[in-house]
Amino acid sequence: MSRPRRISVLGATGSIGQNTLDLIGRDRESYEVVALTGGRNIAQLAKDASDLRAEIAVTAHEDALPALREALAGSGVEAAAGEAALTEAASRPADWVMSAIVGAAGLAPGLAALEQGATLALANKESMVCAGPLVMATAERHGGQVLPVDSEHSAVFQALIGEDISAVERVIITASGGAFRDWPVERLAEATPEEAATHPNWAMGQRITIDSASLFNKALELIETREFFGLDPARIEAVIHPESMIHALVGFCDGGLMAHVGPPDMRHAIGFALHHPERRALPVERLDLTQIGQFTFRAPDETRWPALRLAREVMEVRGLAGAVFNAAKEVALDAFIAREISFPRMAGVVEETLDRISARGGHIAVEISLDNVREADQLARQEARLIIEQV
Ligand code: NAD
Ligand code: MG
Repeated sequence: MSRPRRISVLGATGSIGQNTLDLIGRDRESYEVVALTGGRNIAQLAKDASDLRAEIAVTAHEDALPALREALAGSGVEAAAGEAALTEAASRPADWVMSAIVGAAGLAPGLAALEQGATLALANKESMVCAGPLVMATAERHGGQVLPVDSEHSAVFQALIGEDISAVERVIITASGGAFRDWPVERLAEATPEEAATHPNWAMGQRITIDSASLFNKALELIETREFFGLDPARIEAVIHPESMIHALVGFCDGGLMAHVGPPDMRHAIGFALHHPERRALPVERLDLTQIGQFTFRAPDETRWPALRLAREVMEVRGLAGAVFNAAKEVALDAFIAREISFPRMAGVVEETLDRISARGGHIAVEISLDNVREADQLARQEARLIIEQV
């Protein structure tokens, strides 16, 4: 019998993290859990770490360490806290690491996992947006592999198995359109964070759900597609597909389209990455097409969703534009959640941040290193805050 696979889950207490633990919990003997990480949800983190007998549990917040220590007392699980501890935990030898922290904070721990040679299951799309070439080069240098967990990218990856990338004419990723798909554009200025945080089809973390309503999530995913598959931006499209059953389509040079169809359940993409290169049975719903009846599509409207236009600019510029875009988006999202700015204003803040930083020159079109990305991220956050406070 083969030894259990050593695995870590970064962002274990979140939506993707909990779905990952659900799959692992169904087949306990096959896995040895190394590290689990989380944020302020100490009770969940400690419970999962004890139940799965993890080596170490890490909270991102140093002030939460005493609570984590207390919750883990007698369990034999090591407790740690803070950014450096997250990266240290991610660098502990493991065969497979799930990167499911939300935001740019996921980049450094993901790179650490690749540096120790793990296969990185990447839900944290921000890593690809901020530093795609660095992530791919790190994987290559250390003989590791990056497997997409974002449902659209998993779909594309699966449609490409056995295919030559040079035969790909286009990739189409789908978007549900989010909470405000059918709202009149004029009403968007009154949208509240609570309204934005309800998704028609998927149950996800608060931030990505709001990003689905603004299509900033799709904007990040267009950039992620560009970086993951090395495709020319002109070959990458987004289409509104309200049913969220087709996750992506790959169009080949012979005119054929391969579509990936499945229920909106992230355990499919997580399970695919967990068992790759094998396919194994997964506890997801089996679709009844006659019940569904029809799949519909619409063109995305860039007046309603300017994030898509901004993503095109970022894909053209590359360099640190993705890091600036993502950081400005994170700050704008925080400000919307805090009711400092309106829903449509988020895109304005991101656009002005990109303009100001590129106008200053030198900051965007440079080679990507972790230090450069951090610097661009900090600069963009400061600039975005200034823009928000000006209003
Ligand atoms: P979530 O908010 O539910 O969970 C985020 C996790 O990250 C939690 O464990 C939290 O404690 C941790 N975290 C938050 N801020 C942190 C920080 N600064 N440092 C360290 N840890 C921190 O988010 P989610 O919906 O699970 O999404 C996680 C990632 O996966 C995101 O990048 C998201 O875009 C991507 N993703 C999610 C889904 C989904 O269905 N939820 C689908 C595709 C991609
Ligand atoms: Mg997605």
